[in-house]
Amino acid sequence: MRASSSLVSPPRIGLHCRNAPLLRPVLFVRPFCTEIAEGCLGSGSKRRARGPVMAGKKASEGAKQEGKYKHTVDLPKTTFGLRANAVVREPEIQKLWEDHHVFKRVADRNTGGSFVLHDGPPYANGSLHMGHALNKILKDIINRYKLLLNYKVSFVPGWDCHGLPIELKVLQSMDEDTRRELKPLKLRQKAAKFAKDTVNIQMKSFKRFGVWADWDRPYLTLSPEYEAAQIEVFGQMALRGYIYRGRKPVHWSPSSCTALAEAELEYPEGHISRSIYATFKITSAPPPSCHMLEEFFPELCLAIWTTTPWTIPANAAVAVNAKLEYVVAEVHHALEEATISEKKQTKAGRFLKISERKPFVIVASELVPMLESKWGVKLVVKKAFLGSTLENCRYVHPLNGKECPVVLGGDYITTESGTGLVHTAPGHGQEDYITGLKYGLPIVSPVDDEGRFTEEAGEFNGLEVLGAGNAAVVKCLDEQLSLVLEEPYKHKYPYDWRTKKPTIFRATEQWFASVDGFRQLAMDAINKVTWIPAQAENRIIAMTSSRSDWCISRQRTWGVPIPVFYHVHSKEPLISEETIAHVKAVVSKKGSDAWWYMSTEELLPHKYQNNASEYYKGTDTMDVWFDSGSSWAAVLGKRDGLHFPADLYLEGTDQHRGWFQSSLLTSIATTGNAPYSCVITHGFVLDEKGMKMSKSLGNVVDPDIVINGGKNSKDQPGYGADVLRLWVSSVDYTGDVLIGPQILRQMSETYRKLRGTLRFLLSNLHDWKTENSVPYDDLPKIDKFALYQLENVVKTIQDGYELYQFYKIYQIIQRFAIVDLSNFYLDVAKDRLYVGGSASFTRRSCQTVLAAHLLSIVRLIAPILPHLAEDVWQNLPFEYITGDGSIGKFVFELKWPVPNESWLRMPADDVDLWKTILELRSEVNKVLENARAGKLIGSSLEAKVYLHASDGDVTCRLQELCTAGNEADALHRIFITSQVEVLNSPNTELVTSVPYTGNYTDQRTGEIWIGVSQADGLKCERCWNYEPQVGSFADHPTLCARCYDVINMQPLPAAAGIS
Ligand SMILES: [Zn+2]
Repeated sequence: MRASSSLVSPPRIGLHCRNAPLLRPVLFVRPFCTEIAEGCLGSGSKRRARGPVMAGKKASEGAKQEGKYKHTVDLPKTTFGLRANAVVREPEIQKLWEDHHVFKRVADRNTGGSFVLHDGPPYANGSLHMGHALNKILKDIINRYKLLLNYKVSFVPGWDCHGLPIELKVLQSMDEDTRRELKPLKLRQKAAKFAKDTVNIQMKSFKRFGVWADWDRPYLTLSPEYEAAQIEVFGQMALRGYIYRGRKPVHWSPSSCTALAEAELEYPEGHISRSIYATFKITSAPPPSCHMLEEFFPELCLAIWTTTPWTIPANAAVAVNAKLEYVVAEVHHALEEATISEKKQTKAGRFLKISERKPFVIVASELVPMLESKWGVKLVVKKAFLGSTLENCRYVHPLNGKECPVVLGGDYITTESGTGLVHTAPGHGQEDYITGLKYGLPIVSPVDDEGRFTEEAGEFNGLEVLGAGNAAVVKCLDEQLSLVLEEPYKHKYPYDWRTKKPTIFRATEQWFASVDGFRQLAMDAINKVTWIPAQAENRIIAMTSSRSDWCISRQRTWGVPIPVFYHVHSKEPLISEETIAHVKAVVSKKGSDAWWYMSTEELLPHKYQNNASEYYKGTDTMDVWFDSGSSWAAVLGKRDGLHFPADLYLEGTDQHRGWFQSSLLTSIATTGNAPYSCVITHGFVLDEKGMKMSKSLGNVVDPDIVINGGKNSKDQPGYGADVLRLWVSSVDYTGDVLIGPQILRQMSETYRKLRGTLRFLLSNLHDWKTENSVPYDDLPKIDKFALYQLENVVKTIQDGYELYQFYKIYQIIQRFAIVDLSNFYLDVAKDRLYVGGSASFTRRSCQTVLAAHLLSIVRLIAPILPHLAEDVWQNLPFEYITGDGSIGKFVFELKWPVPNESWLRMPADDVDLWKTILELRSEVNKVLENARAGKLIGSSLEAKVYLHASDGDVTCRLQELCTAGNEADALHRIFITSQVEVLNSPNTELVTSVPYTGNYTDQRTGEIWIGVSQADGLKCERCWNYEPQVGSFADHPTLCARCYDVINMQPLPAAAGIS
């Protein structure tokens, strides 16, 4: 029994069976519309509109009497499945696209300009998460929309392949001995293999999302041609003087033994530092200040505060703000120690405990009360003066006894915390470094790669600065009577985003890109780019205007080498046009491995080869942000069909300080232009409650499981890619977005209903031919109004795509294609479609409207739901000729719907009338519902509706509709009742005798009275409408006049013979 099984699971549909004869006559007798009703047409319509359908159903059940006219009823039929069966069906559709090279063919054939969305490369490490899905699907929606708009779309997917995480993964996979023996080249081979394997895994997932791209030729940052292009970017920047080598404090990760970029840091909550207040004794003051201060010698101290006591050995100065007021205060041990010890974990130093003397401290005047309470002392102010007075005073370093100066720092010195005097260690802080340059201070950084003190730090040698070293420094300061107070301090502190361990600031020899050299150019370029959302511009401006020089060197193996040679004796670096060109040529042929396996002599250009022994090659690699930041040069500038700048970059909001910025800087420095015309940013994906997803919370939504289903198919059904894509379209991605089981269920429900609507359209066009179209001018008003609404929807949806506001499209589709259409036009259409007569005008004009809806909706949704759109297209029961005269075999061979201005020009009066009728109809439905509840009627077809309008003009217009000759506009068809009578005057007797009444009031129409009673006449066997004429036709005594005409006009179709 194939029939019943087909009710449970829709027939599997071959991809090429469009226009093939229907093999399942069983569809004809299925209670088809019961499913449609559940699928898309709402429960209300199920009750009211099942007349002809029930006739068909009963016929199928063999009810002899009622089956007499079943072959004259045009029941819907289609090969398009009710259920998506996406887990099976979507891969079939993707294979179809792939086999026919649909993306490439359509992009090549399109005659509009080229559109280039340049892909930001995901990191080739691990499997994909929801953020990747959001990102790539957004890109695909845009690309597919542009494809429909006739653009030549090229989308080259990329992967970021170098860098520490991959290097660490490779290292972690080995035992200690193997690791020690490991040569750089071997490590690089393993890292490359790991990256390529990951690329393949991720690519498979991206394809399954339905993303169209040049998957056969992606860009990988490890490919020789990419590396060569990157070396060229570096070379050009170097030759323009934007690259320099310097000893500067950089973010350094002791746990990874490398410098880190801003974008490689994170600032976890809850970091606590050991903060200390310490004093440095003043030894001398220059002449003018001398008079003022000497009375306090030798007990006069500078008080400082730091959260990194381990940097005190590198202290080279104390900085003050020239414009702030400072005081000399006498420290009175007025308040007892008890005050301090009450506070948890706060420890007073010996500076406060020696009570036989009263020392003097210099602090910012504004901070005196705060310090009194913190230290538990009384500070008696003796003198006040501006910070500038203190310049060039000298103090003795409490640990090494050296004399150091007081210097003037900048506005970074405030009275928000601390003492207003800043301990300055130019080797360990950015601002300190700048102040140090101004005063020629030594850049001391007695810390090694692993974060341990070096010999330079004397007694602390070998101690870890973030552990024992820190403690030892605090202890030593206390012994020197310098320590005032130690207390835990909670603040934002940079951590290595990979190892999750704290970083330090440390001066090392590094390569830098001098952002100052082209900052203004970059700021000007930002101004010319379109930023979506608009506030993103402020973010990139803030980050670009404040960023310091970019440290681009890393002390790691898995990366592109910094192509620099050093002189053996002078250590002077060698970079010239020739060296860059030569290295670039070598790398483009052999890949960057060559830097490791070729000799310096081979790597040097001819000009230097005779002196090769005087040089050695550098061992630093480039920051991976320089890799990905060069993609515009390696991809946009090199591939056919692409152009520079790209039309669009689209990434997460964190890329303002990552890829958007590194791309901007390299591009500005070498070309003077931004690499993009428009930049879109999206937020992060959180769980349904707005929490970050994490394995430990168990709230991770895995895109692969969303699509293919999880272990438990009840909790984790396979929704398919389109449901995931529908979710992407539904969220306002400019902020953080939420996803979880509940949201996915809602999406799946929306998808199911939309599929139901499309199935209704397809199944009622099974006998449709384009040449049967009714010309627009001949259409009934209800059909013109439907096209007017459709055209407005097309326009609004196009606006949504143009502005990249997909959630608006989602809302319109949900409201229009699922609710509005089903509740009205399609609901009313069933009568015309099923019993209006196969070749009748009323059915064909309705089919004209349905075809227009199908052809529009399928294109409107195609960018978001490409699989659904293609599934519809492959089941299209008629041929569609595209603009170039060929048959559209795939949905993307169509173009975006051409605007039908005439459809929009429906007279305003008519539009108003139909809007009124829609509202009136829902009031009528309420009264019908009451009548049904009161058992006066069963289905709405058993009812007759009375209307009386207080406004004469409205009465006329309603009467016009009542007597509409075209069936379609007739009011009783619109209300799905058997009769409607518009009363000229309120007939009191009638009004009081009608059992169910209601009212509709509107400014335009005034009051309209609604009454419902039982319909006149008998029930027509064929269409279930009640009519006085039923019984008056001798040859067909059970038919109404309409059906009688239809039967007489319609010869018995061949299908009648089937069952
Ligand atoms: Zn009838």
